[in-house]
Amino acid sequence: MNRRDFLGGIALASLTGCARRVRTAAAPSIEPLPKLMPIRADLDRIFRVTVCLRPFRAAGPRLEVERVGDKTVVHNYGHGGSGWSLSWGSSSVAVEKAMAVGEKDVAVIGCGALGLTSAILLQRAGAKVTIYAKERPPEVRSARATGSWTPDSRIALTNSVAPDFPALWEKMCRTSFHMYESYLGMAGNPVEWTDRYALWDDERAGPERKDALDFARFQNRVRDLTPRGHELPPGSHPFPTRHASRNSSLTFNIAGYSRQLVNDFLVEGGRIERTEFHTPSELSQLTQKVVINATGSFALGFLTGLALYHAFPKTPKVILGTGLCGAYTTFSTFTFETVRLAEDGSSSEALRNLLGTLVVGAAAAAAGLALASL
Ligand SMILES: Cc1cc2nc3c(=O)[nH]c(=O)nc-3n(C[C@H](O)[C@H](O)[C@H](O)COP(=O)(O)OP(=O)(O)OC[C@H]3O[C@@H](n4cnc5c(N)ncnc54)[C@H](O)[C@@H]3O)c2cc1C
Repeated sequence: MNRRDFLGGIALASLTGCARRVRTAAAPSIEPLPKLMPIRADLDRIFRVTVCLRPFRAAGPRLEVERVGDKTVVHNYGHGGSGWSLSWGSSSVAVEKAMAVGEKDVAVIGCGALGLTSAILLQRAGAKVTIYAKERPPEVRSARATGSWTPDSRIALTNSVAPDFPALWEKMCRTSFHMYESYLGMAGNPVEWTDRYALWDDERAGPERKDALDFARFQNRVRDLTPRGHELPPGSHPFPTRHASRNSSLTFNIAGYSRQLVNDFLVEGGRIERTEFHTPSELSQLTQKVVINATGSFALGFLTGLALYHAFPKTPKVILGTGLCGAYTTFSTFTFETVRLAEDGSSSEALRNLLGTLVVGAAAAAAGLALASL
């Protein structure tokens, strides 16, 4: 979910967020609003500020099989702002590819939303699983997410997805949703339905957020999964805006839910080893022949910062930065897409793609530099 929408939506009441696209029904039957507690919002109540990038790929998540030395690597990363929502569905696809190799001893690299769900699904498919990861919850990037059901949030750019991606997305989305149903009603509410409110004044703009980039939207394919939002009649709500609407949304309480996933994995005999990989060739040290790569994203800026601020030697920096990060990022795909857009006559989109990626890349590198300078 978008943080600006969230902040806009919590202006008055103690709410968990607001719906981005609200469909107003023709004749809604509006239940009375519950008593909404005013938010105690003060600057001195901000106890922590964190910065985190969504692991975005213009073409959508990478779900390919690759040979690296004697290992079969199944990639499962790059889910933008939809990683939690799509995790079960995406990991089902990755696990199917991994189990097709015929090996029962499998390594998963990464212990975020994608690594944990891959590992649990592998166990359920009969595999013995070890997770190797630099961090585990609550340190992982996944722990910084909002925790909303947002299955197509920044999942890809409209013009960059393969023709079969929308159908794959729908399959992943439905699989995930049904898996989340099985977490409803558990003690501690790791997953629950919560009310969301959207507030807005300008009727022409509506509650919808305008994105700078042309992100792909697929929600219409799964309208049947979640309830519709209803605009609240004027005078029936306590908000200081001209318009307000209410929706119910699936919410992941990330702290409790990720702890639940870690426990589920360990209870089934899974092992987690703290390891940091620096080059793909280090995979050869693993005993397992099949590896699911669920490492999210990797910040080149962090490595550059190590070199600048901590006298990190130059040669490993070049190998790590240009080699590993170069392989991880999608620069070649991005370059190809830019040329393709230009060739197709969409020069303004090609220019936007070029500038947008460069700006985002520079911002990511700056964040990594800042982190490394601490
Ligand atoms: C601000 C924000 C809000 C979001 N809100 C939502 C939301 O409301 N709903 C939603 O569905 N999604 C949301 N997302 C997106 C979602 O959080 C991500 O898509 C998802 O968490 C990515 O999970 P991951 O497992 O791929 O990556 P990560 O959580 O980054 O996990 C990567 C794992 O790989 C390990 N790793 C990485 N590199 C190495 C290495 N070299 N060696 C060893 N281990 C390594 C890490 O230690 C970690 O364990 C949000 C994201 C952000 C940033």
